[in-house]
Amino acid sequence: MVSAEGRRPLPVRVVNGQEYVALADLADLFALTVRDDSRSGGVAVSRGTRTLVLAANRPLVSVAGRVVSLQAPPLQVDRTWLVPVDFVGRALPALVDARVELRRADRLVLVGDVRVPRVVARSEVAGGRVRVVLDVVPPTEHTFESSPGRLLLRFVAAGVDLNADAVPASDVVAGVRALEGRAAIAIDFGPRYAAHRTSEAPLPPDGTRVSIEITTSGDLPPTPAAPTTTPEPKALPPELAALFAPAASPIRTVVIDPGHGGEEEGARGPSGTLEKTVALNVARQLKAALESRLGVRVVLTRDGDETVPLDRRAAMANNNRADLFISIHANASVRRSATGAEVFFLSLDADGQPDHDLPEPAADMLPAVGGERAVELILWEMAQVRHLEQSAVLARMIESQLRARVPMSPRAVQQAPFRVLVGANMPAVLVEMGFITNGQEETRLNDASYQQRLVQALVESVVGYRAYLEGRTTEGRTPPGPARPPGEGRPR
Ligand SMILES: [Zn+2]
Repeated sequence: MVSAEGRRPLPVRVVNGQEYVALADLADLFALTVRDDSRSGGVAVSRGTRTLVLAANRPLVSVAGRVVSLQAPPLQVDRTWLVPVDFVGRALPALVDARVELRRADRLVLVGDVRVPRVVARSEVAGGRVRVVLDVVPPTEHTFESSPGRLLLRFVAAGVDLNADAVPASDVVAGVRALEGRAAIAIDFGPRYAAHRTSEAPLPPDGTRVSIEITTSGDLPPTPAAPTTTPEPKALPPELAALFAPAASPIRTVVIDPGHGGEEEGARGPSGTLEKTVALNVARQLKAALESRLGVRVVLTRDGDETVPLDRRAAMANNNRADLFISIHANASVRRSATGAEVFFLSLDADGQPDHDLPEPAADMLPAVGGERAVELILWEMAQVRHLEQSAVLARMIESQLRARVPMSPRAVQQAPFRVLVGANMPAVLVEMGFITNGQEETRLNDASYQQRLVQALVESVVGYRAYLEGRTTEGRTPPGPARPPGEGRPR
């Protein structure tokens, strides 16, 4: 939460794939009074003379006779009331005299008059130089900070809202991106960067244009200036790209796990599309995109139609010292109407054991635990347990990137006992790209442009997650807590 007084954390809990905040936390931050409301069986929240009432079990809040709908009903867990995060943007402003704005994608709540400049970036090639132009609206005080391979533009602001779609990745400028959780933009240089110079000018009516003039080593091929459509990112060969990855990057190796394979076909669509085929298609494209865009090493757990045991997939990630593990699947349901993408991270029950009863699709999940298998699972399970919090962060980032591009299931982020995740000794998620058992989704999953959207969403998520890790390392920011309230079950 960002206000004129600075930044304060607002813990978020995920219950049934839904993000909640505790009313007690909001009460502290906004000086609210919270009491049970006997008439509605819910809870009343007051500030001064204003009161709003949340009914139990209903996704509604009444504010001075007006009813506002919420994404989910409030929950009472261990005598603590939880409200879905959209309460903050939709209901809280009625109680608080200041502006309260929920920026979900940025994981920000802005309170009062705080500044978050909008920045549109583009790049131009002219006369052997590359120029990156950043239009900043409104003008916002800023500083530059150079480090090897990177120029950091820091704003005196609560955050920054960046659009860098018009900066294709090249071997001069590898990328321009906002550092999540910070009011800063990183311009990452590529291997042909030689030097840079910054300048700025007013941008009428109410902005500043910041230009970064970059000289390059070697000749640049003539390229039309200011492309109107974003050209394909120019990819380095993977071996080279890996060499140029910033040494300090918190993500150097990513393991992509195309689900199933060989004898295990996975789910099958009504027209006969096999999950194993779609998963491998998307995984291969994702590998190429991650390598060229981020310069990371990407290992596939299978690069053909082969049978690979689940435990070996996680072991491959561990042996390759992967920083991230992403398992790619397509979902199945007996309900043909089930549609939309879902993102999973591992769930454990209160004893730290993988859950025993299985939601669908059972095929991808843990077998019943018993005998020797139990011992093995418990050992493996220790690996992922340490990373659950980070896995949750990654899962939420993937969910929001997917949501911007493809239809989502009503339960977009979930925890489930997927066996392939249990042994992964790094943040690990499983992405169900859609329900292949639904005819329409089967068609989409086979469509090249749809696959491209999925790939883009996953690439952006890894970019965002890397930025998040970098932001956290320098600022010691604690990640938003993913914790389930004690005693809260896995989503059904
Ligand atoms: Zn699967």
